[in-house]
Amino acid sequence: MSTLAGSCHCGAVKFTVKSGKPEWLTSCNCSACQRFGALWLHEDASSIEIEADPDATLAYMWGDNSLTFHTCKICGCTTHWLPVDETSTRMAINARMIPKEDIADIRVRHLDGADTWQYLTTKRRALTKFESVA
Ligand SMILES: [Zn+2]
Repeated sequence: MSTLAGSCHCGAVKFTVKSGKPEWLTSCNCSACQRFGALWLHEDASSIEIEADPDATLAYMWGDNSLTFHTCKICGCTTHWLPVDETSTRMAINARMIPKEDIADIRVRHLDGADTWQYLTTKRRALTKFESVA
């Protein structure tokens, strides 16, 4: 399996996704993600290698404080988020840090993080099925 690699604009924060291409990328409309313009690639932390000085990023928490967004202090790119709970291995990297040709064929799903916390694409598909039965 080929890996995916990316970095912030200045290169201070680099990462590798060892598990390669995911099934989909997530575009979330919550108040934070919408402002970051992030396209999240969720993976288990064991599949992602972050290469950065511990002081390279600014950490930002909001809401229920379950995760921390990391942004490069030099170039301002939001590169990834990490769970606050140290027993959790959930994390995500911002796929917009990956060369665009490497992610061009990955499906993007829209997560309604602002309200219902459901994938809007999934909801739409379920509705179509229901309508065809009726
Ligand atoms: Zn940077």
